[in-house]
Amino acid sequence: MSAVATPVSATPSEATLRELSHWIGGKPVAGVSGRFGDVFHPASGAVQARVPLATDAEVDAAVAAATAAFPAWSSQPPLRRARVLFRFREIFEQRLEEIAALINREHGKVLSDARGEATRGLEVVEFATGIPQLLKGEYTEQVGAGIDSWSMRQPLGVVAGITPFNFPAMVPMWMFPVAIACGNTFVLKPSERDPSMANLLAEMLKEAGLPDGVFNVVHGDKSAVDALLQHKGVQAVSFVGSTPIAEYVYREGTKAGKRVQALGGAKNHMIVMPDADLDQAADALVGAAYGSAGERCMAISVAVAVGAATADNLIGKLESRIASLKIGDGALDAPGSPVDLGPLVTKTHLDKVSSYVALGATEGAELVVDGRAGALPAGEGFFLGACLFDHVKPEMKIYREEIFGPVLGIVRVNNFETALQMVNEHEFGNGASLFTRDGDTARDFTHRVQAGMVGINVPIPVPMAFHSFGGWKRSLFGDHAVHGPEGVRFYTRIKTVTSRWPTGIRVGVDTTMPTLG
Ligand code: NAD
Repeated sequence: MSAVATPVSATPSEATLRELSHWIGGKPVAGVSGRFGDVFHPASGAVQARVPLATDAEVDAAVAAATAAFPAWSSQPPLRRARVLFRFREIFEQRLEEIAALINREHGKVLSDARGEATRGLEVVEFATGIPQLLKGEYTEQVGAGIDSWSMRQPLGVVAGITPFNFPAMVPMWMFPVAIACGNTFVLKPSERDPSMANLLAEMLKEAGLPDGVFNVVHGDKSAVDALLQHKGVQAVSFVGSTPIAEYVYREGTKAGKRVQALGGAKNHMIVMPDADLDQAADALVGAAYGSAGERCMAISVAVAVGAATADNLIGKLESRIASLKIGDGALDAPGSPVDLGPLVTKTHLDKVSSYVALGATEGAELVVDGRAGALPAGEGFFLGACLFDHVKPEMKIYREEIFGPVLGIVRVNNFETALQMVNEHEFGNGASLFTRDGDTARDFTHRVQAGMVGINVPIPVPMAFHSFGGWKRSLFGDHAVHGPEGVRFYTRIKTVTSRWPTGIRVGVDTTMPTLG
């Protein structure tokens, strides 16, 4: 591993510290709670902005704005709503570099990865522009003599999105394009660690012609989340974040009578069979384990090598690839001079991930590559190099718990059955992948694996926008995955109409139970 020599980009001084606003009713609204969170510049460690943490009254104002906007927005023809999203799509694409730079500044991920995140978010907007087609119901003529029946999907009202730090653009975009295309109005509570993207999204939506109040942003922490969960004006909550909070949001939200989808954490396994192309598997593993410094819910954090020779060969190939990874300020990532790993999001998170690396060694795993020891950029940035453990065992905490950093563990097993059993017995079931050349093993794996998103020779099987994203087991609480057809179902409710016109009435009153006869 090498550190990028160029110094980290300059950060604003204390004197120019930005103070963020909420976005309510189509305009920025200053926070009044007096409580703020620090927004760091992860590559330098400096504080670059302060984010206000909302009170119940501020959450209430956002919900009130969304409630006021709902009647007009929900009664717009779906095609008009789609046209706003078409314009938003154009604006977003024109400003892609600015968006990527903002993601990099607050999250830390490298620019090329930030562009990728933004593009995957944009694909959901493209899906949602098809809403006139997606909202079409079913129709049956003549369910009885002279009687027709049809179904329609109608919006819920005000819906809320609560999102994590690791995809400040893409995860909100998993939610609001579909929600507002369906005719709902939206309140976003983004992560307080990289909150500015939410405001930029709001500005671009306004520029695209979205009526005021349809999309609102309240910044905050647990207190704002609790206010949304308890608010009688909020009909549904989409949450993405860690499993303990996802479970809490699901429990409290459903207890308050809301529809909730809550996506949680992960420990994604990749099984490497002896017949796999090991160079391909090693390339895939390095990208999937260390890309975005491992701060992806679909990152591979466990590689299950089937057979000792597979494990030995794979580790050799991983070591040489890890040695060539460049770690540095993601803003310096450029074509021809890429940066592979940026910093972690905060010092607190860096310390947590580093403590898992220390723990793994005491638990008895072999630390083959110690990312704490290699060449890291100078300064106070939150950097950690790629870490690789061998001989990880299912009883170890570094196996059971989500680390959410650049740490990959190799588990050695003797056969495919044991590998599959490990995946299926893990509490998380977000993604799982298999590298093999054998179609029969691949088919058996896809059929029996207990995970929501499955890859065959694809390490990070993130579904496209027109499919739906969601895990199984403790990686998702609720009945619906996000975006794609599941998203449309989550943000609408079905109404089925049975209709008879005057002929029946003209023949007079009939008091018997109607049957087909
Ligand atoms: P987090 O759970 O700390 O925070 C997520 C959201 O919950 C934030 O908006 C935060 O303000 C809020 N929150 C935090 N603590 C809370 C509390 N005690 N009560 C109520 N709300 C609270 O998650 P994070 O660290 O921002 O993101 C990383 C996590 O998200 C990882 O576990 C990752 O696997 C997960 N994630 C999952 C998916 C998925 O699709 N399954 C996608 C992205 C991230």
